[in-house]
Amino acid sequence: MFYRETIQKFNSYPTPFYYYDLEVLKQTLQLVKSESEKYNFIIHYALKANTNDEILNIIKSFSIGADCVSGNEVKKAIECQFNAKDIVFAGVGKTDNEINYALEQNIFCFNCESLQELEVINELAFSKNKIADIALRINPNVNANTHKYITTGLEENKFGINMWELEAVVEKLKSLTSLKLIGLHFHIGSQITDLNSYKSLCLKINEIQNWFIQRNIKIENVNVGGGLGVDYHNPDGYRFADFKTYFKIFHDFLKILPGQKVHFELGRSLVAQCGTLISRVVYIKKGMNTNFIILDAGMTELLRPALYQAYHKIENLSRQQQESETDRKQEKVQVSPIFKYDVVGPICESADCFGKAVILPETFRGDIIALRTTGAYGEVMSSRYNLREQVKAFYSSNGYEK
Ligand SMILES: *Cc1c(COP(=O)(O)O)cnc(C)c1O
Repeated sequence: MFYRETIQKFNSYPTPFYYYDLEVLKQTLQLVKSESEKYNFIIHYALKANTNDEILNIIKSFSIGADCVSGNEVKKAIECQFNAKDIVFAGVGKTDNEINYALEQNIFCFNCESLQELEVINELAFSKNKIADIALRINPNVNANTHKYITTGLEENKFGINMWELEAVVEKLKSLTSLKLIGLHFHIGSQITDLNSYKSLCLKINEIQNWFIQRNIKIENVNVGGGLGVDYHNPDGYRFADFKTYFKIFHDFLKILPGQKVHFELGRSLVAQCGTLISRVVYIKKGMNTNFIILDAGMTELLRPALYQAYHKIENLSRQQQESETDRKQEKVQVSPIFKYDVVGPICESADCFGKAVILPETFRGDIIALRTTGAYGEVMSSRYNLREQVKAFYSSNGYEK
């Protein structure tokens, strides 16, 4: 992905910065479209993964809808000309202002997460003389086998309506005359790499659908959420998430009723691999047992390692050692001496660490370091803690070699 010219170009840019390869993004979107269209599945992009304008414009151009979790995300999607009728709005804490805004925009659907939220949307829709289209976000109690901070589909999580509440909710809906139930919504978590979790989800949805069928309640839309994981360890080997298997699982195991539409909300798997955080080595520092590489990027530019011990592949672009570790082993080419470093940022927090005992070629002050796979939940989570400057983004269109 990183051609020599790109690396040379990086040398003249002020670091740190987010680097996006827009061709990689397009290649990913093409694959998602072709795999999902096989089954007429509808895709919404989860804006929270990355709300960079360039990226949103490209995603929109692929006729993908939007999945929003705040009023400002709905607004952003509208501003970027996503069709309001392709916007879904989830979140456990939608405020009155956010709901009113989304009602005025006539979005496709509110994914509702509690009884009280239903009452409030009903009231606000009523005073606008509108009928709000809603889906119930049901907590299917399926384990996504991922990090506990990004697991959302268990009864102990704050998200969604639990099965044991469903009877009361459906009863209540009868009196909420400004709401129209148009679907069921599920989202079990993020960075899911064990695709069996999705099979479990399908089987659970089938059970839940039966519950509604028994009560003669027609469900037009089933939204299965997102969460498909990407390969952070080997971004060049596994460039795309396994969309083919992913969609096939839903085709094979989800019982789709006649006329029913199936929706997906993918965030990470669409944008993660097109982004890289580029940083420069400020200092090399010797510690007691380890050597530190101190970067000019920190948790303010990439929070995931500090927040949930997330792994990002770290490469020293200046030492031009592009071979992956496995290549090196297979070909037995020793390029330059190998060292182990703790790679850290400059922020005054011990959690500001990108990796411990990272194997890298001998590294020097001024070297350019790449933190890979940062297109999702990178730039959007940046902060100005320590009064850091807001970091810029640069773009290219190299793409993966075919
Ligand atoms: C975050 C989120 C998604 C997207 O999750 P990814 O892991 O990025 O695919 C989808 N739906 C809802 C409701 C979300 O909160």
